[in-house]
Amino acid sequence: MTLKTITKDSISNKKVLLRVDFNVPLKEVDGKFLVQDDTRIKNALKTITFLLENQAQVIIISHLGRPEGKMNLDYSLLPTARKLSQLLNQDVLFTTLHEALEDKLSHPLVMLENLRFDKEEEENSPVFAKKLASLAEVYVNESFSTSHRAHASVAAITEILPSYAGFALTQEVNYLASLIENPQKPFVVVVGGAKISDKISAIKKLANIADCVLVGGGVSNNFLKADGFEVANSYLEDKPVDKTKKNTDFVKFADRLLDSNQQEHFLINDFLPLPKIIYPVDVIAAVSMEAKTTQTINLLESDPLVPISDDLMYLDIGPKTIKLFEMVIKQAKTIFWNGPMGVFEKELFSNGTTKIAKAIAESQATSVLGGGDTISAIDQLKLTSKYTYISTAGGASLEFLSGKILPGLKPLT
Ligand code: AMP
Repeated sequence: MTLKTITKDSISNKKVLLRVDFNVPLKEVDGKFLVQDDTRIKNALKTITFLLENQAQVIIISHLGRPEGKMNLDYSLLPTARKLSQLLNQDVLFTTLHEALEDKLSHPLVMLENLRFDKEEEENSPVFAKKLASLAEVYVNESFSTSHRAHASVAAITEILPSYAGFALTQEVNYLASLIENPQKPFVVVVGGAKISDKISAIKKLANIADCVLVGGGVSNNFLKADGFEVANSYLEDKPVDKTKKNTDFVKFADRLLDSNQQEHFLINDFLPLPKIIYPVDVIAAVSMEAKTTQTINLLESDPLVPISDDLMYLDIGPKTIKLFEMVIKQAKTIFWNGPMGVFEKELFSNGTTKIAKAIAESQATSVLGGGDTISAIDQLKLTSKYTYISTAGGASLEFLSGKILPGLKPLT
C-alpha cells in the first residue's frame, strides 16, 4: 500500500486541517483534568512541526472519549491543547468549531474542541465535513487509530479537500503492511488476550501468511475446546461478548482454522515438524484470579480417568508451552504479537507473558506489537525499546491486518 504522504509542496503556506488522535487518558488533580499519558500527542509532533516550519496554518481536530454527540466538558480536549503547547513551547489557540466558523482564524496553531460533541461527526455527515473543510485548503490524516471508522473527520472530509497522510500514520501503515505483504520468513504470529471476537478476522488472514501461529491467553481456550480438551471454568468467549457483533460460534471458528491448517510443516532445528497453529500443551490453573495457589496441568498427558476439576480456570501458559513457544520465536525473522499469554496483571499468572515478551525482545526478528494490554505488559517489564515497532492503534491495526480496506486510508492511497 502506497500512501500520499505530506511533502513541502503539498502543504507550504497552506491552511491545513490535521486529524490527530488525542484520545488520551486524563487524570483529575484538584478539580482540573491533566494528560496522564502523552504518547499519542508526542506521536503527532513530527508532522505538526513540519507543517509549522513550512509556514502552514495548522488546525488540529480530534475526538476524546465517547460524549455521544453532546457537549460534555469532562471530555474537553483543552488539557491536550495545554500539553501540546507545553511540548512545542508555543501558543495553541483553543476554540470551538462554531467560533472558528464565525471568526477568521489567523493564529498559526489552532485546536478545535472535541469533534464528537457533534453527533454529525460519527454519522459521517457531509454537511459537518463541509464545515470543517471550509476552514482549510488541505487535509492531513495523522490518526491511524481512527481510520477504521467512517466518521466525518476521517472519511467524508477526504471527498472535499486534497488529502494526505501524516508521517506517523505512514510509518504505522508501512510496518503493518509489511506483515501481510512481504514478511521475511519464518513469520511467527503470537496471539493471546481474552477476546477472540476482536482478533478473529486478523487471526484468519495471518494464519494464511504466517509459518506458525502461537496461541495463548484466554483465546487458546477456544482452540483447546475445539480439539476436545476440557477447559473447566476457564474464560471462554464462545459467542461475541459485544451483542452488536455478528453472532459467531468461536469454538467452531477455531475448529475450522485448525482443520484447514493441519499439515505439520514448521521445522524446529530442521527436524521437529510442528502444526501451523500451536495452542498450549500445559497451563497454569487456579480456582480464581485471586487464588494464592496454582497447579500446572499437562494437557497432553492428563489422564481422562482423573477429570480436571470443574472449578479450575486456566490463567497462564505452562512451562512446557513456554519452552515450545521460545523455540519457535528463536527461529522467526518476523514476529507479530497481540495479546498477553495469561492474566499478567496478577503476578502468579504473569510468567508466560514475561517469558514470551523477553523471548521476542531477544530475538533477531523484526517485531511488531499491538494491543493495549500487550503494551502495558511490556511497559511494566521496561522492554518497550527492544521491539521494532509498537502499534498503539488497537482495533484499526487488527482490521488492517485482516485485509480490510479502511475507510480513512483508501482516499490517501
Ligand atoms: P484482550 O483485550 O482481548 O487482548 O484481553 C486482555 C486481557 O486478557 C488481559 O486483561 C488479561 O488479563 C486477559 N487474559 C489473558 N489470558 C487470560 C486467561 N487465560 N483467562 C482470562 N483472561 C485472560
